[in-house]
Amino acid sequence: MDSDHSPPINSAWAGVAHNERVGNRAGTAITAMLACAALAAGCASVAGRAAPSGSIVADTIRESTVSLVDPGFVRGGDDGAIDRLAATAVADVEAFWRRHYPEVFGQPWRELAGGFVSVDTADPRAEAPPCTDSAALITGNAYYCPAEDVVVWDRAALLPVLAERYGAPAVTMVLAHEMGHAVQHRAGVTGARQPTIVIEAMADCYAGAFLRWVADGSAEHLRLSPAQLDPTLRALVTFRDPVGTDDRDAGAHGGAFDRVSAFLDGYAAGAATCARITADNREFTQRAFTSADDLERGGNLPLPELLPAMARDLGDYFTEVLRDAGTGWSPPPVEAVDAAPGCLAGAQGAVAFCPGEGVRVWPEGMVADIHAGVGDYGTGVLLASRYALGVLHATGRPVAGPDAQRAVLCLAGAYTGSLLRPRRDFTVSPGDLDEAVQVLLGYDYPARDAHGGVIGAGFERVATFREGVLGGAGACGLG
Ligand SMILES: [Zn+2]
Repeated sequence: MDSDHSPPINSAWAGVAHNERVGNRAGTAITAMLACAALAAGCASVAGRAAPSGSIVADTIRESTVSLVDPGFVRGGDDGAIDRLAATAVADVEAFWRRHYPEVFGQPWRELAGGFVSVDTADPRAEAPPCTDSAALITGNAYYCPAEDVVVWDRAALLPVLAERYGAPAVTMVLAHEMGHAVQHRAGVTGARQPTIVIEAMADCYAGAFLRWVADGSAEHLRLSPAQLDPTLRALVTFRDPVGTDDRDAGAHGGAFDRVSAFLDGYAAGAATCARITADNREFTQRAFTSADDLERGGNLPLPELLPAMARDLGDYFTEVLRDAGTGWSPPPVEAVDAAPGCLAGAQGAVAFCPGEGVRVWPEGMVADIHAGVGDYGTGVLLASRYALGVLHATGRPVAGPDAQRAVLCLAGAYTGSLLRPRRDFTVSPGDLDEAVQVLLGYDYPARDAHGGVIGAGFERVATFREGVLGGAGACGLG
């Protein structure tokens, strides 16, 4: 990215292939990254029926707060439920940074000079928000503008859609991300010094650190239950870059895996860890397409092609890992079957490792839905984790219980990580890691042990899978 053109507006909510150049009041070109395309259905449905269901929004706000703050300090607000939620969220985020900014950066926290602005983008007469020419330009968006040190949100087409679909913590996550950009501005971390994708990963990480503080019960007004974290991450996945965006792209915010990874780092390790993220110490998995054939297929192989190719590759990978560990084995066969795998009472779902038989794949049972709905690597993760169960079995390790549940996810991640580093002719396509995150957040099959026991929460499944991606089979107790 040419540092001279680093966007002065930092927004997490970049649209799918929908960046628009607009002019700010000073006449300088700035890039507003609109989220409406990413939330296209949401924007459309909001426009179509004025507002999301009030009771769903009211319920999620009630579940996620112990009290609400007076939104009187929000400029342009309407005193409605969404602005009350947003005001409450930013009040707690500021309290977090008053406490943690001095610890991390050795300076006192400075409140936002420009404060907070709520915009009704559905109102054609709405005043132009800070740093843009018109309210319509920020439809579906929230952003931080350093020129005015202000956080702005769309209360018509972004926050209520998030609250209704994913719950109030998704609104908090977005605003905590934007406040993360205010933190960066104070700390001198700018787009001129780091690529956009690093700036965005750090802001996602700060949002994770804040939400962990909320989950721990430290916030004055907000609450977060473990069950609310998965939908919040699903909201973050919605804002992934379009498949095929290169991680060096000037507007890249990160794929689902990159963004969820950054959030989980903050959630696990806190704000000081986020502050240390740089282009030199962070690996991003987002890739551009490298072959025309792959682009044409959208990075997806049909199931009949995927199964034999991946079976061969899994065999090669784990044979190598076990050879390094001084263990020989016979790779299990992978076969499509025309009925639910019967071993162990079908406890593993439509893809199962059956001792003595190998990995059995029943395409009609769920696999077809995941393959079509999530993508080929949704199926790939199911296959890799069942194959990993075969590895545990072959090496005399437990195939049931918490250790097995962690190991199958971790080994599926280790195998996936090996695909990111060119080895053989079988590699991941752009979007495959996003598909892994989607299947891990949406389904517990990849975590099941031989008896159907699972790691319960999606975010834990993603975190365990990621340990393998980053650390390889050694991080999973193998090799
Ligand atoms: Zn951002």
